[in-house]
Amino acid sequence: KPEPDLALVVREIAEEMQARSDRGDVAGYIPELARVDPNAFGMVVIAADGQIAAGGDSEQPFSIQSVSKVFTLTLALGKVGDRLWRRVGREPSGTAFNSIVQLERENGVPRNPFINAGALAVTDVILSGHQPREALGEILRFMRFLADDVSIVIDEGVAGSEQRTGFRNAALANYMRSFGVIENPVDFTLGVYFHHCAIAMSCRQLAMAGRFLAHGGRNPETGHNVVTPERARRINALMLTCGHYDGSGEFAYRVGLPGKSGVGGGILAVAPGKASIAVWSPGLDASGNSHLGRIALEALTRRMGWSIFGA
Ligand code: GLN
Repeated sequence: KPEPDLALVVREIAEEMQARSDRGDVAGYIPELARVDPNAFGMVVIAADGQIAAGGDSEQPFSIQSVSKVFTLTLALGKVGDRLWRRVGREPSGTAFNSIVQLERENGVPRNPFINAGALAVTDVILSGHQPREALGEILRFMRFLADDVSIVIDEGVAGSEQRTGFRNAALANYMRSFGVIENPVDFTLGVYFHHCAIAMSCRQLAMAGRFLAHGGRNPETGHNVVTPERARRINALMLTCGHYDGSGEFAYRVGLPGKSGVGGGILAVAPGKASIAVWSPGLDASGNSHLGRIALEALTRRMGWSIFGA
């Protein structure tokens, strides 16, 4: 049976999503994100051969939020290797992305690098030995390098908005600091975290940045070996099991790809050996994952036969 025409499939899915009325609710707890147009929808798929299939608002930058946690994890592993796992676990949490309950039982060690507590610990690792400004510069430079695009910037309005209202993240950071899981002044760690969450990227830029994960650690566009094949495989495993918080099981069941969501409505998904995929729709489901983003990815993997669990 011939491979479906990817460009056509992506265009069709974008049209189907734009026509739907169920969209979920935009993240209300970050004032700046509450103002984003809930009707936006964009999707970009970059295939192994470099073909770019795009639909909808594919060039419009949005707040990548927790999708940035894939890239901070990659950087932290590059800096300290497997010692990172002393500070953060590798198990799905089954709790909300901003939950605090499990930290008390587990000596302040977060379950995985993708819930907020875990991502704060990862950011703290990147920060150690640096000034916040330097750590943030390193993260931003990494995103530009991966996407091969120097125009990527941080949305200071979003960062400031979270800095003023991120009381829950401050609680998580202070709690972990009391166990020594966070080593730097909590305000520094939080500042770097809020700013990397506030990086703005389009679906095209995000799909480009994710290419190394789809191709054994190497970006076929730039030819850069970003990480070893083993590390790429492991990051993908974490994305599959933890990338959608307490919605990770449902995402694996419906979509069948490693994926990382953000409350800006973005999802980066990886079809190993086949494609890097970015989708954006700001309305969220009850777990804080993009509602239409997930539905669009489900349609894509079904039509292309790309689920890692088989057609
Ligand atoms: N910056 C957001 C927060 O810390 C990220 C959460 C998310 O995208 N799930 O709450």
